[in-house]
Amino acid sequence: MSSVAIHPLVDPGVKKGNPTFGGGTLRCRCKNDPVEVSVQSNVAHNHACGCTKCWKPAGAIFAVIGVVPREKVEVTQHSEKLQMVDPTAAIQRHACKECGTHMLGRIENRGHPFYGLDFIHVELSDDTGWEEPRFAAFVSSTIEGGSARPEQMDGIRARLSELGLTPYDSLNPPLMDAIATHIAKRNGILK
Ligand SMILES: [Zn+2]
Ligand SMILES: [Zn+2]
Repeated sequence: MSSVAIHPLVDPGVKKGNPTFGGGTLRCRCKNDPVEVSVQSNVAHNHACGCTKCWKPAGAIFAVIGVVPREKVEVTQHSEKLQMVDPTAAIQRHACKECGTHMLGRIENRGHPFYGLDFIHVELSDDTGWEEPRFAAFVSSTIEGGSARPEQMDGIRARLSELGLTPYDSLNPPLMDAIATHIAKRNGILK
C-alpha cells in the first residue's frame, strides 16, 4: 500500500457504489447537535479534488466531492449552525460554524454552467452505496493549497492512477466539455 494519503475514502482502495442507491443523510462532525442534510439522490461526477476551496479532512491531500440536484437537498437539522464560507465565491460553501465541516456548496448564479447542482461530500454520510470517486481534478492545485509539495507530485499522480482516479489539472474532459458547451451556447457560437 502506498504511503500517499489521498483521502480516507479512497486510500484503502476505491469501493464501487450502488447504481440504484437513492441518497442518504450527511452529518457534520459535531458530537452534539450535528447539522443534518438530507439528500434524496445518488451523487454524480464524484471525484477527488485538489482545488484550494474544497473542504478536506485533516491529513488528506484531496477532498472528495460530487454533485446532486439542488432540489433533492434539504437541511433537516440545525441549519442555524451553518454559515457561508465566502459569499463572493461562485460555489457558495455552507459550513458548520462549530466544527468547520462544509455541508453543501450551492450556486446562485443562474448563468453558471453548473447552476442547479449542489456540491456535497459523501464521506459525511453513514449510508453506503454512493457513487464512487471516478477521477481526480485540480491535482496541481494541491501545491497551491499547501497539502502537497512539488516533489511529491509524481508519487501522487502515480497513486491516483493506481486507484483508478485519472489525474487532471482542471476538471475531467466530460465536465470541461459541458462548461465549454454552456459558454458556446450562451455566446451563440453553438446552436
Ligand atoms: Zn458541526
Ligand atoms: Zn475542489
